[in-house]
Amino acid sequence: MPIRPIIGPDNPVLRRKAKTLDNPNIPALQQLIEDMIETMRAAPGVGLAAPQVAVSQRLAVIEYAEPPENAPEDAEPPEPKLYVIVNPEIVARSEVMVDGTEGCLSLPGYAGNVMRHQAVTVKALNRRGKPIKVKARGWLARIFQHEIDHLDGILYIDRASKVWRVEADEAAADPGLRE
Ligand code: ZN
Repeated sequence: MPIRPIIGPDNPVLRRKAKTLDNPNIPALQQLIEDMIETMRAAPGVGLAAPQVAVSQRLAVIEYAEPPENAPEDAEPPEPKLYVIVNPEIVARSEVMVDGTEGCLSLPGYAGNVMRHQAVTVKALNRRGKPIKVKARGWLARIFQHEIDHLDGILYIDRASKVWRVEADEAAADPGLRE
């Protein structure tokens, strides 16, 4: 399972609106999905969209451990949950917006402050082409919004109120930042 190179903004694919997939349950796509999961984990990151590996198709992978609401500070970290989303669409957004820090695997060495909806509902197909609906809040909702933006050629720096450089070890210390 090869790890694929992650492209930066110098590659125009990252800025293109990605194409809708007609039939996601095809062998070629399964290989791409496996490669994307492996590439995301190796980075490491919490999300990766197909345009980031130079494939202009509406597909993203997300892996994030969302702590349950009101979890005590000293609780065991939850198991990360993997989402494969094909042709995702945000069908509901909270009115409440929250500010948070994001980084992007396509823009290594930078972070920025971005306002996002605090909660979103996402409809998509899973990797077998079955419809799924995800209600995400907090950081998970932020990751979904960041990845779905990638499918429209939008980067977090387009929405950020502020962008700054981060040291390599600082970025590595906070895996929640990179998507
Ligand atoms: Zn990104």
